[in-house]
Amino acid sequence: MNVLQRKPEKTGQPEPLEPASSPSPAVEKTVRLIARDDGICLVMFDRPGSSANIFDLRTLDELAQELEFIERQTELKGVVFISNKRSVFIAGADLNAMLKVASPDDARVLIERGQAVMNRIAALKIPTVAAVHGAAVGGGYELCLACDYRIASPDHATKIGLPETKIGLLPGWGGSTRLPRLIGLPKALDIILGGKTVPAKLALKVGMVDEIAPAESLVTAAARKIKLGKPCRSDHWLLNSRLVAAVVAPQVRKMLFKKTRGHYPAVFKALEVVTHGVSRTVEMSLALERDGIIELMQTDVCRNLIGVFFLQERARKKTFSVAASAAESKPVAHTAVIGAGVMGAGITQWISARKLPVILRDINVEQVAKGMAGIAKLYRDGVKHHTFTAHEARAGMERVHPAPTEVPLHHADIVIEAAVENLELKKKIFQRLDELVSPDTVLATNTSALPISEMAASTRHPERVVGLHFFNPVYRMQLVEVIAAQQTSPEVLQRALKFAQQIGKLPVVVKDSPGFLVNRILIPYLIEAGNLFESGARIEDLDDVMLDFGMPMGPLRLLDEVGLDVSLHVAATLAVHFGERMKVPGCLGKMTNAGLLGRKSGGGFYLHEKSKDAKPNPGVASYVQSQKAREITREELQERMVFLMVNEAARCLEEQIVTDPADVDFAMIMGTGFAPFRGGPLRYTDTVGAARLVGAMNHLVASGTAHFEPCKLLAGLAVNGGKFYPKN
Ligand code: NAD
Repeated sequence: MNVLQRKPEKTGQPEPLEPASSPSPAVEKTVRLIARDDGICLVMFDRPGSSANIFDLRTLDELAQELEFIERQTELKGVVFISNKRSVFIAGADLNAMLKVASPDDARVLIERGQAVMNRIAALKIPTVAAVHGAAVGGGYELCLACDYRIASPDHATKIGLPETKIGLLPGWGGSTRLPRLIGLPKALDIILGGKTVPAKLALKVGMVDEIAPAESLVTAAARKIKLGKPCRSDHWLLNSRLVAAVVAPQVRKMLFKKTRGHYPAVFKALEVVTHGVSRTVEMSLALERDGIIELMQTDVCRNLIGVFFLQERARKKTFSVAASAAESKPVAHTAVIGAGVMGAGITQWISARKLPVILRDINVEQVAKGMAGIAKLYRDGVKHHTFTAHEARAGMERVHPAPTEVPLHHADIVIEAAVENLELKKKIFQRLDELVSPDTVLATNTSALPISEMAASTRHPERVVGLHFFNPVYRMQLVEVIAAQQTSPEVLQRALKFAQQIGKLPVVVKDSPGFLVNRILIPYLIEAGNLFESGARIEDLDDVMLDFGMPMGPLRLLDEVGLDVSLHVAATLAVHFGERMKVPGCLGKMTNAGLLGRKSGGGFYLHEKSKDAKPNPGVASYVQSQKAREITREELQERMVFLMVNEAARCLEEQIVTDPADVDFAMIMGTGFAPFRGGPLRYTDTVGAARLVGAMNHLVASGTAHFEPCKLLAGLAVNGGKFYPKN
């Protein structure tokens, strides 16, 4: 339902104005003008056949035409920009068009067209208001910035901001120029460099919008603003002065370098553009924006990051070709989670926040209470960070039904088992669930690495057993591996996939095989870090070289965060299947036995003191067995760890754990934070060249480290000069 339909204006039926041009009636337009009899003109965005509005060249042209018409009107009192979509105002520029830009000249045309339209809005003589319900991001918010006023609905769907730097770009349609002028340089840098989108309440606090009004009265609130005439705003002369910019820029650059290690050129360029532009004229600042974004559009980093964005979109929409009845299966309405530990509580909170009731079952009152306390904390933190209102958090909590004893589960459409990682226990749980649920309930397990086909085989209806592997912490990690056991029916797989999408996760479908996809690729890398540590490489070097590569966290620090006991368990499961290649270094077992479990025990490879940054733990020196790796260069340390991820990623493709290289790259980026600017391990292989990687790996094999032996697929690509992505 849209703003206008919800509550028609009292002033009578809106009348379409005469169109500025006479487009063929067959071509449906995105931008429409609606006249009101109080002299206010509504400019409504409603992209035909789509749930979202985006700015492609056609939409920009339509808007330009309508603005030309508005400019000629002498009777109009004001203009209000609105959307007719349920949850999107304008979701930014068309990224497909961005990707297709072949030359700097094409890029210039696209950017200049956008800037020209925004400038035209800014130059209108009558007051203008953006009445925002739904996402107003990127170009969508740049339109808002070109208006005199911005009013937003408080709804969940309303998200406001400039995420361009997250996809390797900068706000180039006036955002880098107008935001600092609206809210002052420091706050604008925070939004632009962080690529932030914020809910309406926060946007109001920061000054990105002027008012919050319910969706159904946005236009009425906008009309009130128009009556006030053009606003007179602070120009933040002090905050935006050349002096402040000159002081701020080097400090921020240093901080950005520490954070990104120079891998993300967009934030540096955006910093330069904003700090140079802020004390110059609007025209000069817009020219800086233009040149900056055109330069960024030509980079591989930008192309890879936009690629990741499209992979996310693909995961949101993915389906299987199964019988129509299954494809159209009803959305899940009732759920249950078995096990109220770290994962069970996390999954339960996530599902309940998505407005579904959840039964949370554990073995006794204490365990259930612990889980409920964890869920309550997640909601409290969510309220603190404006993810939920207090009311939403309360409602979410009320949707969780604690079950310390057995309860009927025949209403559940899906049951997710997240009990301890023990195959025999899980089999027993599945056998019991088989009796408690209805015939068409999907039974899913969140196991990290255990064989799902074996769990399925222990039930009377193995075809309804599937894996749903969530990542920790559930509220932050968007990826879910949907795992097809040998017996899983296509319908059940489809229902599990749709459920993951229904609750807002990004699924990747993988074959049941030890470690599935993400852990299978990650574990050899973590094992190698352990091997190198045992051979004398320094903890800080091992982690630092991988931060240099672009990982969000070094491997030893990651082991500490996950818990050495948990990692050891997964690694040992994989070692059983993959033998020498994944032989677990002794230090992991010894440290676990000594209670050095990582963050949760206060110490592992690092000492985790509450108030301080973690420092390498001198107490683990006794687990170092030789000094062989002491002299290995930083470059080689990095290569060794990366090679093993690349090789295992290629093996997963070879063994058809997934069939599309994009699935491997997507899962590794979303599940481990694998350097997104590199586009994933397989895209990285294409960039560096399989021949170079295989050559270096063979060299290591020749020097006695057999586990670097390249898999057949990788070796084949090296010989014939092939690529994982031959077309691009
Ligand atoms: P956990 O130890 O925190 O919680 C396990 C819970 O299961 C405990 O509360 C325990 O009381 C309960 N439980 C034991 N037997 C039960 C039974 N018969 N019925 C109901 N509940 C029972 O474990 P966790 O870290 O939450 O892991 C749960 C599952 O998720 C495991 O299979 C694990 O491999 C997987 N997983 C864990 C992570 C992680 O990072 N922790 C990530 C992904 C997947």
